[in-house]
Amino acid sequence: MMRSADLFREAKKVIPGGVNSPVRAYQSVGLEPPFIAKAKGARVYDEDGREYIDYIGSWGPMILGQADQRVCNAVMEAAKDGLSFGAPTAREVEMARLITKMVPHVEMVRMVNSGTEAVMSAVRLARGATGRDKIVKFSGCYHGHSDPMLVKAGSGLMTAGVPSSLGVPEKAAEDTLTAEYNDLSSVRELFERYTGEIAAVIVEPVAANMGVVPPEKGFLSGLREICDQSGALLLFDEVITGFRLSKGGAQEYFGVRADLVTFGKIIGGGMPVGAYCGSRALMETVSPTGKVYQAGTLSGNPVAMAAGLAQLKILDGHPEIYEHIDNLAQRLENGLQSLVEKYRIPASVTRCGSLCCLFFREGGVRNYPEAQQCDTALFARYFKGMLRRGIYLAPSQFEAIFIGDAHTESDIDKTLQAADETFAEMK
Ligand code: PLP
Repeated sequence: MMRSADLFREAKKVIPGGVNSPVRAYQSVGLEPPFIAKAKGARVYDEDGREYIDYIGSWGPMILGQADQRVCNAVMEAAKDGLSFGAPTAREVEMARLITKMVPHVEMVRMVNSGTEAVMSAVRLARGATGRDKIVKFSGCYHGHSDPMLVKAGSGLMTAGVPSSLGVPEKAAEDTLTAEYNDLSSVRELFERYTGEIAAVIVEPVAANMGVVPPEKGFLSGLREICDQSGALLLFDEVITGFRLSKGGAQEYFGVRADLVTFGKIIGGGMPVGAYCGSRALMETVSPTGKVYQAGTLSGNPVAMAAGLAQLKILDGHPEIYEHIDNLAQRLENGLQSLVEKYRIPASVTRCGSLCCLFFREGGVRNYPEAQQCDTALFARYFKGMLRRGIYLAPSQFEAIFIGDAHTESDIDKTLQAADETFAEMK
């Protein structure tokens, strides 16, 4: 018996579905998940001793690769001095300073423990600061699992075909308005209908939870204009794009200013972290300086700060990393595109920086309705073929391929070879 299979059977007895986050369950691809024993660089190893090229990277944060020695050393050093104090520490100041230095238009930072918490808190801040209740989000964008954000969300909800979650009272979601990604007219309509009531527009600057859907030219700057005209705040949820598109994130990459920015996993280097950030005036509306309450026992945890600081300092000091990961992603994009044409697979490749996606839909994908038209059964066949050949992709059509600094051209070429064989099998 395989160890992963044994573990999964045992896991299902004591953990719902055997997993602590739904997309890990492999349900939509009709398989059982490999249990991961360890990882190094661009490789993960399962409990049965199989080696894979890792394109999940813990869903984004492992941009330097797995078990990076510099990050691991920082964690071990910090742990020697204690795991948690629930008191201010020097590392938190260093982290906030570094984020304000790297990210444009950010003057203050509040650390939390996950992307969900970051968004939940930033939304509360936006409502508190504007005195308005309504929030505009985009179908297919995922902003964590807080009640108001579980409306037409992407990621695991989309994979499971669940538009919204049970257990979210209608009242908790009634102030969440949804617009269509890449469609400014759908946003304008909401602003006309709810004049003076909208606190913020929250957007993934590159939608990366319905596959990878880059913003069309003028979309993000159009949101900025609409917000400026109406007194609403523009909130970039950079849990995936932050420190990945560029060291200053999407604001720097697209040249569009956001009022509030949320970060997650990537600023923890693999430890559980999140943060929300903005101008001093906005951030000082948060307690204890202001009346928007938000707190956290483990927020700014010293070990998590040490890991995150080590990772961010490397990104800050090595701009060539961005060139490397973008070039590799381009190589993957070009290679997949040629193979799609060679085998006439009804699919299209999208990419923004080091985020890629192979959509099983012809003609690309620019929004949620188009993403929903993807052939998920075909994706599942592709996924299985790739996994068998040692390529560790997210087990869902609606997730990104993450390229990191530990990947090499040879990894990309092996991946393309696997895709070539898999597509040949699929014909
Ligand atoms: N926002 C975005 C854009 C995300 O991709 C995610 C998770 O993937 C979240 C928020 C939620 O973050 P977490 O899973 O750390 O709660």
